[in-house]
Amino acid sequence: MSNPLHDRPRPFLEPAYCKGCLRCVEACPRHCITPGSAINPSTGVAPVELHLEHCNGCGLCTQACPEPFGLRLHEGVSHLEGRFQLEDPAKLFGRKRVQVTAPEPAPDAELPLPDCAPLVIKGVYASAIGAVLAGCRHVFGYPITPSTEGAELMARMLPPLGGTFVQAVSEVAAVNMMYGAGGAGVPAMTFTSSPGFSLMLEGISYLIGAEVPSVFVNLMRGGPGLGNIGPEQADIKLACRGLGHGNTQAIVLAPSTPQEMLDLTMAAFPLSFRYRNPVILLGDGYLGQVTGVVRLPAALRRPGRPDWAVWGDREHRHNLINSILLAEADLAAHNEHLGRKYAEMHRREQRAELHRCDDAEVLVVACNTPARMARGAVEAARARGVRAGLFRPISLWPFPIDALSPLLARVERLVVVEASAGQLEDELRLAVSHAGLRLPPLEHVRRLGGLLPQQDEILARLAVPEEVLR
Ligand code: SF4
Ligand code: SF4
Repeated sequence: MSNPLHDRPRPFLEPAYCKGCLRCVEACPRHCITPGSAINPSTGVAPVELHLEHCNGCGLCTQACPEPFGLRLHEGVSHLEGRFQLEDPAKLFGRKRVQVTAPEPAPDAELPLPDCAPLVIKGVYASAIGAVLAGCRHVFGYPITPSTEGAELMARMLPPLGGTFVQAVSEVAAVNMMYGAGGAGVPAMTFTSSPGFSLMLEGISYLIGAEVPSVFVNLMRGGPGLGNIGPEQADIKLACRGLGHGNTQAIVLAPSTPQEMLDLTMAAFPLSFRYRNPVILLGDGYLGQVTGVVRLPAALRRPGRPDWAVWGDREHRHNLINSILLAEADLAAHNEHLGRKYAEMHRREQRAELHRCDDAEVLVVACNTPARMARGAVEAARARGVRAGLFRPISLWPFPIDALSPLLARVERLVVVEASAGQLEDELRLAVSHAGLRLPPLEHVRRLGGLLPQQDEILARLAVPEEVLR
């Protein structure tokens, strides 16, 4: 007489549907199931392994398995039959592809802007107006001094324009809202400052991985930690070298006047869509708060819609935005693709201002607000017979090495002026090193903690003779 226990079906596993939760391992009273030792390349998970010599077909493991087509007793039938009546996993998990016309990209349009008298406004307002003129109607953020007024102005300007401002529960939430809006193909941005920017870095890595455009205005303040609310160039390293995990890079623009806060914010949006990548506008706290004359451009931008957008209509339904690529070869290829994109940015997007550099013997390198003090020092030095010039990187990444390299061949000295402990100087040194160039003797003027380098101390470093200074 046969033993009915022997007739009971034994479990089997489709490795592609095991998520490695190990509930079956715990459920089996006969220790027939062990954690997996080999990763399934299609899922990136190590499925459990079955050793059924002592299995009595009790079925406890299949009952414990939460996956409808994971551990089962009958091939082709879910053990959760009744809840899932499908016999073919592909019918449950596969997507029926409906033939639709591929979406056409809708191009941006430029609309003329009527003449308008110059505005006298603070830098952070200029940036907000620049974003609106660039077609941004989706702003997400969390208040932080000294950038809060940008968000406040957006909260007032956007609703009448049909836009949306959301004060998120945190910077982490804000950056993920930007991911959603950017993934839908609409221009999205935030205003933040150093500690808030730190919180957004994981999200920025996701944005870069998923190739989602977005614009971050970071008005840097003193750090580390909460630091203070004085101006510092504390995040150059973070923006140029540390945008979250992975091989991340983004165009980093450094305005030095309220006018440039507007102009570069406007420029940041088309750049972010051209490369499908975040763009960082890196100002300092002083620049955000200082008032200046700002002229509006002759045209504003009406954004189109990219063909890759996850837009809620039939044409865009096959688009997918994500940053997860489980198979090693796929992720390697994606990183190589990103690398080619970074190389193109490096080739095409270097920006710098050269002021009195043609015959300069000593070159001051400075950006943001310190560049304004440096410019004053250069003028004062010139008036006293010193051939000084100012090299102002406007793109910190890519560092404008192509414009700097001809100057390096003939200047006698460099003086790097910055409100940080050498973060700009490090970018300069890296760029010179990567380009295989010779670095002339280099000095620096640095201030920290909310203080800015002053014209007199820069002038003193330009080696103006004492008797001339008197
Ligand atoms: S059917 Fe029972 S004995 Fe067999 S592997 Fe599953 S839990 Fe273990
Ligand atoms: S319970 Fe199911 S999903 Fe979890 S490890 Fe076991 S077979 Fe895999």
